[in-house]
Amino acid sequence: QQMIVIGAGILGASTAYHLAKAGFKVTVIDRQDAGQATEAAAGIVCPWLSQRRNKAWYQLAKGGAKYYQQLIPALEAETDQDTGYKKVGAISLHHDETKLEKMIERALKRREDAPEIEEIKSYNQEETRGAFPPLSNDFQSVYVSGAARVDGRKLRKALLKAAELYGADMIHGEAALVNDSGQIEGVKVNGELLHADKIIVTAGVWAKELLEPIGLNFQVSAQKAQIAHLHVPDADTSEWSVVQPPTNHYLLSFDDGKVVVGATHEDEHQFNTNVTAGGVLEVLSKALTVAPGLQAATLIETKVGFRPFTPGFLPVIGQVPGYEKLYAANGLGASGLTSGPYLGAQLAKLVSGEELDIDLALYNIEDAFME
Ligand code: FAD
Repeated sequence: QQMIVIGAGILGASTAYHLAKAGFKVTVIDRQDAGQATEAAAGIVCPWLSQRRNKAWYQLAKGGAKYYQQLIPALEAETDQDTGYKKVGAISLHHDETKLEKMIERALKRREDAPEIEEIKSYNQEETRGAFPPLSNDFQSVYVSGAARVDGRKLRKALLKAAELYGADMIHGEAALVNDSGQIEGVKVNGELLHADKIIVTAGVWAKELLEPIGLNFQVSAQKAQIAHLHVPDADTSEWSVVQPPTNHYLLSFDDGKVVVGATHEDEHQFNTNVTAGGVLEVLSKALTVAPGLQAATLIETKVGFRPFTPGFLPVIGQVPGYEKLYAANGLGASGLTSGPYLGAQLAKLVSGEELDIDLALYNIEDAFME
């Protein structure tokens, strides 16, 4: 069977990889939009300390974090690509002892069915700074060793490379759905009409405009995020833990002195990828307040990405109502690097008629369509 995947962020790249690996003929079409979420993402994989209470969201994020343990070794064996994944642990900061105790309690409870959290420790001020040296002296933290960071750009590249090794074709261009008397006839790209048995839309915040011409009103909204990349000279940043301050901002590091701090949350209707003075001020001031040791770091660049949100801030996946050949998943929001590879694997199973590991009813795609 021939499959076409439209949109190769983390979700489409993972879907294409799993389909190609399962033996399907796969064509991936990607427009390489400025503002692609995967390209800009920070890369924190640590869903367990979140205070968000939504069970469906947590199940998916938890499953996603766990799935990395299977995916990364497989990709490393299949390609020579660096996936940018490393289990460096995370520290969740607080001044308040009772808040820290609550956080430990929550982590211990969650570990009962998520052993991949691994070690949970309470860190004093000194241990906290040991995990991320630029931090100020005033924080204690909860450390979980199973948390990781991943470079979305590298992981996406590795997934697409592996998909190509399994026979997938990659096309750069703008895909449009071609509708023939109520059913999808094919996909038009670069002036050519391609036919397929199944067409999968993983187009992030741009899925709305892709589905509109066939008369569908898909509710995906874009939240703009600005995120700064810094360089810290003369420091081995490769093992620093991910830092989650009490706010919704964060800091994390990669190899070669790279530190990433972010991010803004801006409602966006125009897909404007400008880096703004206010955005840079916000991310830098929040980061430097908790980590004054970064004052002298070099500001390398500020990236912009659009987080795709579907109703209820919950991802959706399924067959597009009324269209037999058409499938979609979306709404990965602020945690798509965590859940995207896993949801892509599930989407591949769904289109190939296999049994899923998640309960589809929890992520009902019909909820994202309005008359
Ligand atoms: P995208 O990555 O946006 O990909 C969609 C793709 O579809 C694009 O390449 C686009 O060009 C293509 N496309 C659209 N329309 C068409 C068309 N008509 N034809 C062809 N191609 C098309 N998640 C975490 O788990 N941890 C984090 O630390 C984290 N940090 C983040 C920080 C920032 C700044 C941002 C923006 C996001 C962050 N996220 C994080 C969330 C995560 O990045 C997203 O949820 C995820 O990347 C969404 O992936 P996607 O594949 O759905 O969309």
